[in-house]
Amino acid sequence: MAKFYDVSMPIHTAMPVYKNREENRPHLEVIRDFSQGAFETRLNLYMHSGTHMDAPYHFVPGGKKIDAVALEEVIRPCRVVGLSRVSGEITPRDLEAKGVQAGEFILLKTSNSFQEGFVPDFVFLGADGARYLVEQGVKGVGIDALSIERDQPGHDTHHLLLGAGVIIIEGLRLAEVPEGSYMLLAAPLVVVGAEAAPVRVVLVDGRLES
Ligand SMILES: [Zn+2]
Repeated sequence: MAKFYDVSMPIHTAMPVYKNREENRPHLEVIRDFSQGAFETRLNLYMHSGTHMDAPYHFVPGGKKIDAVALEEVIRPCRVVGLSRVSGEITPRDLEAKGVQAGEFILLKTSNSFQEGFVPDFVFLGADGARYLVEQGVKGVGIDALSIERDQPGHDTHHLLLGAGVIIIEGLRLAEVPEGSYMLLAAPLVVVGAEAAPVRVVLVDGRLES
C-alpha cells in the first residue's frame, strides 16, 4: 500500500508568513452565505505565502511563467535529503555528502520543519549551495522555509536556480517524511502570466493501487 505525505501548509489567516508581514496573510471573504442560498467565498492569497512554486519569471525577465511549467516537471520522482544538523546556510559541503545526481528533484529537509511560526534565522540555501546544485544538473529544489534564501542582498540563490531553469518549491513541511525517494505530486494552479502559484504538495511512497 502506498503511503501519502501531505507536505503542504494549511492556508488560514493565522498561518506563518514571511517576516510576519501583515500584507502576506491570506483572507477568505464570504461572498454569499446560506441566507442567499449557497455559501461562496473569495480567497485573497499572496503567491509566496504557504506552500508554493516559483517559476523562473519570479526573478528572470522573460523567463518561464508558472503556466508554462509542464506536468512532467512536477509530477515525477524526487528525493528528500536530511540536513537536520545544518544551522544557517546550506553549503556545497552539506550537499556533497548526499550524492546529488543530474536530473534529480531535491527536497531539503532541515530543522525548519520542526519549528512553528516564522523563525527569522531559518535554515536557507546559500548562493554556493545553489551554484553547486545547478552544476550537478538538478531539475528542481524544494525547501521547508517560506523562502529558499535569506538576507542575501542580490537574491543570488533565486537568480542562480531560476536563471538555470530550476524550479523552486518553498514552504514545505517535511517533519514526518524520512529521508529517501518518493513520487512528487506538485502541480501548481495554472495562473496565466504569474511568477508563482500555490501548490498542494504530496509525496507518495510506494506504488499506487486501485
Ligand atoms: Zn516564492
